[in-house]
Amino acid sequence: NWTFDNKEDKSSGAASNGRQILELPVAAIRRPLGRTRGNDQDKVAALMESITAIGLQEPIDVLEVDGVYYGFSGCHRYEAHQRLGLETIRCRVRKANKEVLKMHMM
Ligand code: ADP
Repeated sequence: NWTFDNKEDKSSGAASNGRQILELPVAAIRRPLGRTRGNDQDKVAALMESITAIGLQEPIDVLEVDGVYYGFSGCHRYEAHQRLGLETIRCRVRKANKEVLKMHMM
């Protein structure tokens, strides 16, 4: 039941740089480096308020490797979604291979 939105593909040629905007389940995004615990809670609270009021204005960046989604940044937006109990989060998804994933793990 993931929705696919290819508006950006059509308007900006996102297909050519290998990026798609997808609404992914928050729970489906692995965060190998984990630490939303180090987040600035004032920022998270401000984002929660803003996301509730106007929605997520800038998708978080996610890598897709062998059908699995990995997030390394966008930690405050990710935690804001978790704390709001939102099931999905808008992501800019880039397909990558294991070598690229390894680089992000370092
Ligand atoms: P993160 O760890 O998620 O990158 P930052 O506090 O470093 O958090 O940055 C917040 C980011 O969230 C900014 O890039 C901002 O453009 C983006 N953003 C997306 N949606 C919103 C929103 N509704 N209100 C405020 N900022 C938003």
